[in-house]
Amino acid sequence: MNRNLYDALLGQCHQDSTLIKENGGSAITYGEFIAEISRLGGALIEAGLQPGDRVAVQVEKSVRALALYLATVKAGGIFLPLNTAYTPAEIEYFLTDAEPVIFICDPSKQAALSPIAAQVNAKILTLDGNGDGSLTEASLKASPLVEASSRGGKDVAAILYTSGTTGRSKGAMLSHNNLLSNALTLVDYWRFSSPDTLIHALPIFHTHGLFVATNVVLASGASMIFQQRFDPAQILQSMPDATVLMGVPTFYTRLLQSDGLTREATQHMRLFVSGSAPLLAETHREWEERTGHAILERYGMTETNMNTSNPYHGRRIAGTVGYPLPGVEIRVTNPETGALLASGEIGMIEVRGPNVFQGYWRMPEKTAAELRTDGFFITGDLGRVDQDGYVHIVGRGKDLIITGGYNVYPKELESEIDALDGVHESAAVGVPHPDFGEGIVAVVVREPGASIAESDILEALTQRLASYKRPKKLIFLEELPRNTMGKVQKNVLREQYKDSFR
Ligand code: ATP
Ligand code: MG
Repeated sequence: MNRNLYDALLGQCHQDSTLIKENGGSAITYGEFIAEISRLGGALIEAGLQPGDRVAVQVEKSVRALALYLATVKAGGIFLPLNTAYTPAEIEYFLTDAEPVIFICDPSKQAALSPIAAQVNAKILTLDGNGDGSLTEASLKASPLVEASSRGGKDVAAILYTSGTTGRSKGAMLSHNNLLSNALTLVDYWRFSSPDTLIHALPIFHTHGLFVATNVVLASGASMIFQQRFDPAQILQSMPDATVLMGVPTFYTRLLQSDGLTREATQHMRLFVSGSAPLLAETHREWEERTGHAILERYGMTETNMNTSNPYHGRRIAGTVGYPLPGVEIRVTNPETGALLASGEIGMIEVRGPNVFQGYWRMPEKTAAELRTDGFFITGDLGRVDQDGYVHIVGRGKDLIITGGYNVYPKELESEIDALDGVHESAAVGVPHPDFGEGIVAVVVREPGASIAESDILEALTQRLASYKRPKKLIFLEELPRNTMGKVQKNVLREQYKDSFR
């Protein structure tokens, strides 16, 4: 049997159902989307694509760009999306690493990127944010691709590079079955069905917008309101016609700043999902107060798709990422020895399940170091499972602070600081300290108009935390440095404040 993800997602759909509503644009049915995929698939084959070949793509978000993902998969290729913010120098790294046979970019970047594509013998085609370009022209001439290429469940459907928050991005190889199994699990867990309409305002070069949001909609025959970028006003405008929003935490903090966010405005919605970075407990609380909806936080990563989720029915607990998804196992181990820890203890989170990737592209040593022979993937995230089975993430292993020989989990200190009146959010990092190895620097963002002072914070912490967990230096900033997925860039903070104690 053909295990091509395309067949599983679109093989049985209702052709006449609406799939996409673009703000201001006309509706697109499943049938029309499939016809688009067939044309694009034809163009890819004509450009020389063979099963297993990579198609690298750096284009603006558009319906055609989304169809390109499915066209590549249908043709048996490996889809490789790249962050639109990457510079030509960064693109050179990815193309040299992945050696795609086809590279599709925005027409405005073609001149700068053509020599790089030529270096790796990739054929270059273009696609702009309106869906125009040489790829589209080729797709109108090519004979449409009707049948999905025959693929096994373990064959790679996509290579997604990790966000590069902790170091150089790595290419995670995701199989047809990795993607399908996770999509089906989420449809069930989050109760997706054909009457649902998702507001899709995430980028489609990252696992959250490309796989979680899109595959869940396709697998359930639902529809989506497709927005090119996150714009709080547009989201509010769409809510009366929608049922679900998936966002990164900054979506929610920004929406909370809109007066238009009310109980009435969100009345038609049934679910708000957050992930890709930790959601502040305060955001969770404020959202529930304002709208009556408890945001459902879930935890995943490029290498594994989604691992855990707060329940659909049942308590969605702020500051936790919920239960392991059905079929996904989570264990917590000693980061040094790998030994299993007693329940409730903090350690390295490891995951196993049909969602776990096939390894890092051309990095056998890294793959061997992070993917155990028994199938567990060492996530790099530290956390614990509480007595009720909820998973708590306390931060990344690389962000753990070791000061005077003691471990400090940044989240513990950050949560205490965040809870103070006048504080919006904070980030704690360890930087070199002559006596303690590392000293703690806490960076604090005040609530708008608040005047909480360094002494107020330090005094409050004295009563709450052991002295070694308290910051040796406090810095106020207007905002924390974040990447496009809303992740706080602690490496940037560590670099910026590295001389604090020297
Ligand atoms: P790199 O691996 O290149 O350093 P990255 O890990 O940031 O980058 P992604 O795969 O995009 O790249 O992000 C996955 C990470 O995001 C997880 O390992 C985890 O640290 C974080 N994350 C995702 N969801 C949550 C969440 N709900 N709460 C806390 N952290 C989360
Ligand atoms: Mg990572």
